[in-house]
Order: sequence, then structure tokens, then C-alpha cells
Amino acid sequence: MSEHSDVRLRSALTQVPAYVPGKPAAPREGVIAYKVSSNENPYPPLPSVLEVVREAATQINRYPDMAVTELSNALADHLGVPVEHIATGTGSVGVLGQIIQATCDPGDEVVFAWRSFEAYPIVTALAGASAVRVGLDEHCRHRLDAMLAAITERTKVVLVCTPNNPTGPIVHHDELERFIDAVPSRVLVVIDEAYLEFVQDPEAPDALALYRDRPNVVVLRTFSKAYGLAGLRVGYAVAHEPIASALRKTAVPFGVNSLAQAAAIASLDAFDELKERVDAIVAERSRVVEALRTQGWFIPDTQANFVWFPLGDRSTAFTQAAQEAGLTLRQYGDDGVRATIGEPEANDVLIRVAGAFLEATAPTTPAV
Ligand SMILES: *Cc1c(COP(=O)(O)O)cnc(C)c1O
Repeated sequence: MSEHSDVRLRSALTQVPAYVPGKPAAPREGVIAYKVSSNENPYPPLPSVLEVVREAATQINRYPDMAVTELSNALADHLGVPVEHIATGTGSVGVLGQIIQATCDPGDEVVFAWRSFEAYPIVTALAGASAVRVGLDEHCRHRLDAMLAAITERTKVVLVCTPNNPTGPIVHHDELERFIDAVPSRVLVVIDEAYLEFVQDPEAPDALALYRDRPNVVVLRTFSKAYGLAGLRVGYAVAHEPIASALRKTAVPFGVNSLAQAAAIASLDAFDELKERVDAIVAERSRVVEALRTQGWFIPDTQANFVWFPLGDRSTAFTQAAQEAGLTLRQYGDDGVRATIGEPEANDVLIRVAGAFLEATAPTTPAV
């Protein structure tokens, strides 16, 4: 095969960073392997949801409902918003791509915190837009004042990730409201709430309340994390017109497949059952954070289903130590390492590995 090609690709593609997915668990002799690198739900699908998916699978020779009617109606009901304000996509990453495509021309700017979700620079670069990264503070939180100051004439979108992946903290409702009211109304503010269901802090934003009377606010949510449907790819935005219509225009036609639509509806119906699992994960999160802090770690406040170790140049050593114990973590270069709250046995291994690592090295300090 020849490596030479005369085909011209868009120059914007040279700016697109590769998505680094969480690695799969690496089996080793005599060690149980756990994948805690992608913030997935450790519980298997609910039997009731699986049954619905099985039933839906008998119809996969047919195209899905392109308008995603039933799910959109169910979401509108569940959230108390007009159904016209719901736009779905292939995971909230898909919806985010639709948002950027609908708003950004080449040279436009998208402002977000960094580190934050690594899909942000990718969808930005794909549109030929420029990523404006605003560093987190020493507690790994968004610096909303600095993000406000980073807005220019070219800014089309600001992304606020709360809780922030990969560090864990939320932004507070009051500070977010002040921020949004200071942002020019021509700039879209996207509140990415992928981990909403794990949040317990009463100061957390009420994003739907912020969206309700502000036409430039979009709320982004997913079935991938708390609802445990990461493999089916379905997420949604709540947005005013004309944004919601624009997101339907930029969606991949028939993108949200029929199994995903059926499973998402069934999961909304089964939320009470799912909530028990979410509560169990949140209880495990408290146990893990407390144990790590007792060991001497600086762990930023996390309201999500993961914890962040700001390890700097010791990130590789820690990731390797965990791997040897059977835990696949997610390393972010020389910034730090993220561990998903998994099944209790996996969390036990994490606590053990972290304790041993700390004894062999030194505590972390509050710095990104
Ligand atoms: C996991 C995640 C998403 C959701 O991704 P899906 O495409 O819905 O699976 C969105 N935003 C953040 C910050 C995430 O961590």
C-alpha cells in the first residue's frame, strides 16, 4: 500500500488533538483487573432496561425515529421544559459537536477551563475554531472571572463543565449566575452536566433555572454516566430557539439509534432503581476521598464519580503502580491522574495502591 496521497484534507484537521480514551483493563496473572479509566458506571444494565433493548433489537432492520419523538417527549416531561427545547445526539459529545458546528466559523473562539473534558479542544478544532483555555485555580476549580476576561469579539461559545472532568469540583450556582449575566448575550454558555446525578453539594447550579429565562444558556446532559448507557451513545441539550432547531439541523440524520432511544426512555422510567446505584457510588466516593485524605493526599472536592490526583511529574509512576495492582487509571500527561469510583473491590485496591505510593514518595499539595 502506498503512503502517498494527493487528496487535500482540511487544514483545520492538523489542529485536532487525538482523543485519548481510557485504556481497557489489563489482565495480569493472579491479579483481578479493573477498568476505572473512563468514568463508566460499574453496574451492569438494569434487567428491565436490557429487556427493552432486547425487544428493540428485533426491529433493527428499520431506521430509528429520526425525530427521536418519544424520548424527546419523555425528557420534556421529566424536566418540565417544552419539547421543542430538547435536542438529542450521539452522546453529549455528539451534541457538543452539533453546538460548535451550529455556532462557530473558522477563526471563532471557544472558551473553556483547562484541564477540563478533552473532547472540548477536539470539537473546537474540528470546526476550525480556536480553543481558549483558562487555567483552573489551585483547588482545581473553574476561574470564572478569568474566563469572562478571556471573552473577545470572536468568542461564540463558553463551556462550563460542572462537575469538572477530570478534577471533580462544581461551580457554585451564585457564581455561575453572576458569570452568565456578565457574558454578552450573543455568546452561548454551555453548562455541561454529564455528572449531575452524582452531585450532592447544595451550592451546585440549578442549570435548568439558569436556562429558563436566558436564551443564550444551553444545558448538556447524558445517559452515559449515572444512567449506565455509555455504550449506546445518547445525550441531549436543553436550549431555547433558535438554538434547539440549529442543533437538530447539525445532528447526524438517524444518529441516535433505536436501541439507544428505547434504553434511554426505559432508564428515565427506572430512575428510582438507578438512583440507588448512584447513591451507592456516591457513598463509595465519600469513603475513598476520606481514606485518601487521611493518608495525606490532596484530593480536590469531587462531586462526580471520580477522584483526581494532582501528581505532576509523578503521574506516570502512580499510573504504573496502579496498573501493577490491576487498576487501569486515566493519566493526563504530567498534570495528574483520574480514578473512577468503581466497584467497592476496585476502590479498595485504589486506596491500598495510593497509600503505598505515598509512603514511598511524598504528599501532594494544592496545585494543578
Ligand atoms: C463523559 C462526559 C460527557 C458525556 O459523553 P457522552 O458522549 O454522552 O458519552 C460529556 N461531558 C463530560 C464532561 C464528560 O465527562
